[in-house]
Amino acid sequence: ETDKNYLLHSIREIEDFPKPGIKFKDITTLLGDAKAFTMLMEHLVARYKDMDIDYVAGIESRGFIFGAALASQLKTCFVPIRKPGKLPYTTISEKYSLEYGVDAVSIHIDAFSTAGKSKPNVLLIDDLIATGGTATAAVNLINKAGAHCIEACFILNLTFLQGDLDIKKTTPVYSVLEVL
Ligand code: IMP
Repeated sequence: ETDKNYLLHSIREIEDFPKPGIKFKDITTLLGDAKAFTMLMEHLVARYKDMDIDYVAGIESRGFIFGAALASQLKTCFVPIRKPGKLPYTTISEKYSLEYGVDAVSIHIDAFSTAGKSKPNVLLIDDLIATGGTATAAVNLINKAGAHCIEACFILNLTFLQGDLDIKKTTPVYSVLEVL
């Protein structure tokens, strides 16, 4: 049984990090609570075990933690989506705009070539969706890389920011927890 209230309260809130005025959701306290981490992973496995997922793609860096754990439990592959300049082989990238400036996410060009399918199913995962810029770019990147993003999954959705609106036009969004 998933106790969402317990999970939500296992995430610590840090005021004024990384900048004044920001309340940072710190998931290290969820990871540091065996009951919370196990409950979360069992919840995710139950949701995704029969969805015919070929790859779990996680966004740097906290998406790696949940994504790799989930991929292992689903007995499937894990693909890292990283900031530019970090992946060693040939990459493709997708830019997105920030409040000030632009950022990008990148992936290896052959990341989805090992499944032996022309359009493998990819589950995108990250710890948190805020404005949605990062995740929207990541969904676009997965599709550009020739795969099919079957769902975008977040442990926590700051729903008041409506960051999932653009993704939802093309791709289902699932959030384990929501901050209204
Ligand atoms: P967005 O692009 O504005 O949706 O920001 C989401 C990205 O920033 C994700 O990769 C998150 O890991 C990270 N992020 C933004 N705010 C927080 C937070 O409060 N806690 C943890 N990660 C955050």
